Amino acid sequence: MKKIMCLLFVFAAFVFSSCAAPCPPVKTAEKLPKYIILFIGDGMSSPQRMLAEEYLRKSGKPGLAMNHMPWHSSVRSASADSIVTDSAASGTALATGVKTTNGHFTADKVILCAGGASYPGTGSDGGGAKLAAKVGHTIVPLKPSLVPLVSDYAYIDDLQGLSLRNVRATLYGDGKKLTDDFGEMLFTHFGVSGPIILSLSNMAAEALHKGMEVELAIDLKPALSEEKLDARIQRDFATYSRKQLVNGMKDLLPQRLIPVVCDMAYLDEEKFINQISREERKRLVDTLKRFVVPITGTRPIAEAIVTAGGVSVKEINPKTMESKLINGLYFAGEVMDVDGYTGGFNLQAAFSSGYAAGVAASS
Ligand SMILES: Cc1cc2nc3c(=O)[nH]c(=O)nc-3n(C[C@H](O)[C@H](O)[C@H](O)COP(=O)(O)OP(=O)(O)OC[C@H]3O[C@@H](n4cnc5c(N)ncnc54)[C@H](O)[C@@H]3O)c2cc1C
Repeated sequence: MKKIMCLLFVFAAFVFSSCAAPCPPVKTAEKLPKYIILFIGDGMSSPQRMLAEEYLRKSGKPGLAMNHMPWHSSVRSASADSIVTDSAASGTALATGVKTTNGHFTADKVILCAGGASYPGTGSDGGGAKLAAKVGHTIVPLKPSLVPLVSDYAYIDDLQGLSLRNVRATLYGDGKKLTDDFGEMLFTHFGVSGPIILSLSNMAAEALHKGMEVELAIDLKPALSEEKLDARIQRDFATYSRKQLVNGMKDLLPQRLIPVVCDMAYLDEEKFINQISREERKRLVDTLKRFVVPITGTRPIAEAIVTAGGVSVKEINPKTMESKLINGLYFAGEVMDVDGYTGGFNLQAAFSSGYAAGVAASS
């Protein structure tokens, strides 16, 4: 009996001690100072962090930037899981900190600058929009922008790797002109890419999203009117009159494009130039001025230079970048529903919104 009592005591002591001891260790709020500003993300909009940190250093108040990618050595390595809010007496919620994989940080102000969903390998994986959605913000669906376009065009395999300079690409949706651009483009194994394609891609994505039939019409000789192009071809044909078409168009087009253009114009590339009729020449002119490539899709958002969509700007004060729903929560950069053309506009948007948010949050 004594033995049984003894065993029961040891068992009870074990159970009691396991409950009382803080084991296994659990993640608790870190014993760190309350920050004035917490930055979630530290990407291109980070110049605002520099400005805000300068202010904080001068005023002796602590700020903290976190990033979940290990190579950001100047910032705290932590992945934000959620923004912590309190309901204030006024009824408007207040941002009070951030829960992360590395503990719970408290702050007076939180700046969400976690980027979009493009190139997730850089750390911007769409998580920023999810953090904002969790605290009640409306998210305009994320879409690829500045993204290569996909085509099931029969000639893509023949043309992949070919780049064209000084061409004009016009985008059509259900036969209606949507936009155009002039410059350089490239045929790839999946479709088309290059500067002018990227700049048309946002509208192409939108049109595809609406279920429109989308096509690109490429003007291969935009500097020449149809009449001037016809005159130019007649001169070339006079020079190469005894040659076959495929050999007599080399001054006009890159070699790889010649058989494709001939095929599209219903011309036999082996026909001798002195046998080409006026009607056939006209078809050639038409094809050179309107080389049509059907567009069936965009490459995925992960391959887009920029993410369209994000936190609805209707819910953000444009002067301070502060949330209209949650006091003390600010936004900067691509996490917002802001995107622009190539040429540095997206970087500028990140810098400017970052500056505005940083200044407003630190003052
Ligand atoms: C290949 C490429 C080329 C580009 N070229 C141009 C160009 O020529 N011109 C132009 O204007 N724009 C260009 N852009 C777009 C431009 O880089 C972005 O618009 C800009 O970086 C957005 O800045 P950001 O600070 O909002 O986000 P980002 O720079 O994407 O930074 C966000 C950061 O937040 C971190 N983060 C995300 N979620 C969390 C989380 N939960 N917790 C902690 N950290 C998190 C990420 O690790 C990331 O470092 C290019 C983009 C790419 C990918």
